Amino acid sequence: MAYNGFGKSFVYLSMKIFHSSSELVAHVESVKKLGQSVGFVPTMGALHHGHLSLIESGIKENDITIASIFINPLQFNNENDFINYPQTPDRDSLMLQNAGCDLLYLPIKEELYPPGSIQIFDLHGLDVPMEGRHRPGHFQGMANVVFRFFQIIQPNRAYFGLKDYQQFIIIKNCIAPLFSKLEIKGVHTLRESSGLAMSSRNMRLTDSQKQQASCVYRLLKTQLNQLGEKKVGVLTKEIEAAFKAWEELRLEYVDFAEENTLAPWKEKGDPKQFRIFIAFYAGETRLIDNLGFGELSLY
Ligand code: AMP
Repeated sequence: MAYNGFGKSFVYLSMKIFHSSSELVAHVESVKKLGQSVGFVPTMGALHHGHLSLIESGIKENDITIASIFINPLQFNNENDFINYPQTPDRDSLMLQNAGCDLLYLPIKEELYPPGSIQIFDLHGLDVPMEGRHRPGHFQGMANVVFRFFQIIQPNRAYFGLKDYQQFIIIKNCIAPLFSKLEIKGVHTLRESSGLAMSSRNMRLTDSQKQQASCVYRLLKTQLNQLGEKKVGVLTKEIEAAFKAWEELRLEYVDFAEENTLAPWKEKGDPKQFRIFIAFYAGETRLIDNLGFGELSLY
């Protein structure tokens, strides 16, 4: 029994914390011998309710749920972004415990990446557009860490947020098939009541940056709804014009891409198969968001 940090109440804490991959492997093997299923949620920490919604899905669908926290240097193309990535380790483990997570894996970098373990994966070209264009090497770095996690943990199911849709589709199509019987689950983006997609990076925003960044969601919704009616060039110009009015924000890219292939919208086909993707800066902080037709009624 331990103090839970919030008010005076006490909670029973039963979450295990593992650093060593060999201990984790042994533990997972013992769990699987009992016929129990394992759900896995990789994160980079600085947790928020979006992360917890992945944990909740894991708990619902598996006998045990494992979360990892690791700020993966390989997937950062910008050194400053890596150095300044927010870290709230005590708060994170408390949040995971209180959410009912069974095990937290805090890997040792050298164990995750032993000499010679880093590979170049065939990402079927899904790493080329959007984030791939603006963050060279990011998806190879991400694919490497997720591949190693899957190798070590051998989960039955792994949970990824649709907030990072391009990441989700790359894992689902290119990395998961390398493991037998691994199911990849996409979880809808959790948003603030303002519409702003929850993100660890939001804690770096000033009030006015946050207020302007919150307007982007409504813009995405409006523009996606008009795909097929207005030409993509017109929709893009309208988005650029909206960004000119938000002095705290700077648009990096906006794209309409097919939800499975990420091929750009070419004024034909069913717009409902397409998603809108955006990346922008609020001050120095880079944010991404995306939306599909299936999600329009959710928020
Ligand atoms: P990160 O810690 O940013 O690497 O995120 C870990 C996982 O949480 C990824 O699968 C993200 O897509 C997911 N995630 C991040 N933000 C949200 C959100 N607002 N709603 C749902 N999932 C999220």
